[in-house]
Parts: sequence; structure tokens; C-alpha cells
Amino acid sequence: MSKIQVLDPITIDKIAAGEVIERPASVVKELVENAIDAGATAVVVEIKDGGISFMRITDNGCGIDREDVRSAFLRHSTSKIRSVDDLLHIGSLGFRGEALSSISAVAQVELITKTKDQTFGTLYRIAGGKEETLEDTGAPDGTTFIIRQLFYNTPARRKFLKTPMTEASHVGDLMTRLALSHPHISFQFINNGQSKLHTSGNGKLKDVIYHIYGREIASNLLKAEYDTPGLKITGFLGKPIISRGNRNFENYYVNGRYARNSIISRAIEDAYKDFTMQHKYPFVVLHIEIDGEHVDVNVHPTKMELRFNNQQEVYNAIYSAVDQGLHEKELIPHVEMPE
Ligand code: ADP
Ligand code: MG
Repeated sequence: MSKIQVLDPITIDKIAAGEVIERPASVVKELVENAIDAGATAVVVEIKDGGISFMRITDNGCGIDREDVRSAFLRHSTSKIRSVDDLLHIGSLGFRGEALSSISAVAQVELITKTKDQTFGTLYRIAGGKEETLEDTGAPDGTTFIIRQLFYNTPARRKFLKTPMTEASHVGDLMTRLALSHPHISFQFINNGQSKLHTSGNGKLKDVIYHIYGREIASNLLKAEYDTPGLKITGFLGKPIISRGNRNFENYYVNGRYARNSIISRAIEDAYKDFTMQHKYPFVVLHIEIDGEHVDVNVHPTKMELRFNNQQEVYNAIYSAVDQGLHEKELIPHVEMPE
């Protein structure tokens, strides 16, 4: 064995990047979540070559102050929390301060950003963790990230990427989920010059569902509504006739985050049991708001896993919301189409 040494920061970031950044879609996820946290009302994502050679994420959010640009790329630097106590009341999607340091460790990054109080924007370039440029530039209010050559300096990672078509479809799925979880934000997704998704941001979830899934699904929805202290559910339940052969259409978002969770899935499927055939899974889009004190999102760096401190309560609430929604269908004879 050789001598024990502390790793240098660039190596640490490269290793850490492996946990957060697996593929182009993970980069897009982190950067769009930052845009949402920055209060953006419109986000445009453009990719080429499945995102492997090129990704551009543009938002009209608050921008980053010139003097904060460098520190934004440092590991564990965040403007969103100050202490562990804040984790109980997380109002933002990000908080770990890892995305920008991770992405810039394994790709070539260009950032153009401007706050409304600044006359000039800032152009910043960083690649493989090494700063290249920090200068003035003309720019609209908001932030644009351009990410080139993902994993150019980590060949082992690059080898695990799939074909550009597969990577692009992961980004597309992600954009769908982002649009469904934030109907108040306009999302556009452009793949190889073609617009694949463009939501209006008018705040109507049903319009987003219509845009993404089309008329047949949008005209077969029942409303879900459930409101108890500490737990609130809104959204839409597909009528049993539009049930699908797999779970891909079980969309639920916990406190604005796309999540997969066995308790939630089971509650939804159990409530549908009497209505659907075996091996059919419901179409749902549910927004679940749970008091930050009852849910831990800090289980894994990607924050897709959740832990509840009262699983039974969560199960019951979701079961009831879905069950009531399905049984009240007589009361909602026809869900009107979006204009
Ligand atoms: P986190 O989101 O966990 O705080 P990140 O590494 O993703 O960590 O981002 C670091 C910081 O950079 C954020 O806390 C935020 O202050 C700033 N930032 C990143 N992206 C944007 C953006 N699109 N608009 C405004 N500020 C941003
Ligand atoms: Mg972030």
C-alpha cells in the first residue's frame, strides 16, 4: 500500500460528479432545476447529438451576480440553504451545491448570466474544473448554460453513454416530467433543431397533459383533490379505460419533484384495483404537497428517493384521494377540453 493522501479538488469533483451526473439528462435536470429555483417563467432546452456534444439551457430567472459566479462552481456552495435546519423547510429543488462543480468537472461549460441590477452580463468558461474566462458580455436578464463534450475527460463514464437517440429520449422524458410538475413555467425542448415540446406556462395542468399526451387522454380525466393539514393532493386521474400496460404513466410529484416511491405507487394502484384489469397501470398526474418535516428528500444525491416519517399516513391520504376521485366520476360528467 502506498502513502495516504488527500485527493486534489479536481479529482474529488470528478468522483463526486459520478453520483450526480450519469448522462446528458442528469445535466439537464440539474440545470433546469436551478432555473426553476431562480424563479424562471420560461426555460428552453436545446440539445444536439443526444446532448453528448451540446446542451443549451436558457432561463429568464434571476441570474447570477458577477461576484458570485466563481463560487457557484465550488463544491458545496449554494445560495439555497445555510444550515441543516433549513433542510426541514426546503422550498427549492436544489440545496446540495454539487451540480455546477460536478458538471464543470466532467464537461466544457460556458455560462452567460445577468441579473436585472447589472448593466453587463458575465461570460464564464470553465472546463474540467479549470477556469478559462471571466468577462463582460451583452446578455438579457437570466442565465444560459452551454455544456459541450460531456465526459470528455472521463472516458470510463463516456463509454457507458447510450446512442444519441436513447440519450435524447431520456432528456425528452425528463422535459415531460418537468412540464407536468410546473404548469406555470413554459418549457421548450429542441432536439437537433426540432421543437419536441413547448408548453405555454399558463398554469393549467390539463393543458400540459393535453399538449403532451393528446386528446384521447386529456378527455378522459377525473379530478383529484385532497386537502388535510400537512398533506395536499391535486391533479388528474385517468379513467380506467385509458389504463396502460406499464407504470410509465404514473406521474407523481412530491413538493415539485418527480419521485418514484413504492408507498405512493402502491396506494395509487390499490385504489385503482377495482377499476382496472390485471397488469394494467393507471394514468395519473398528481401533485403531492407534504410538510417538509414529514419527508426527507436528502436520501440520495439525485433526490429522486423519498423517505417519509409516517408511511401509513401518506399511503392513506393518497389512497383516499384516488379512491374519492374515481368514485366521484358521476359528479364530473365530462371534463372540458382546453381551449
Ligand atoms: P444548488 O442548486 O444545490 O444550490 P448548484 O451547484 O446547482 O447548487 O448551483 C450553485 C448556485 O448557483 C445556486 O445555489 C444558485 O445560487 C446559482 N445558480 C445556478 N444556476 C442558476 C440559474 N440558472 N440562475 C440563477 N442562479 C443559479
Ligand atoms: Mg442545483
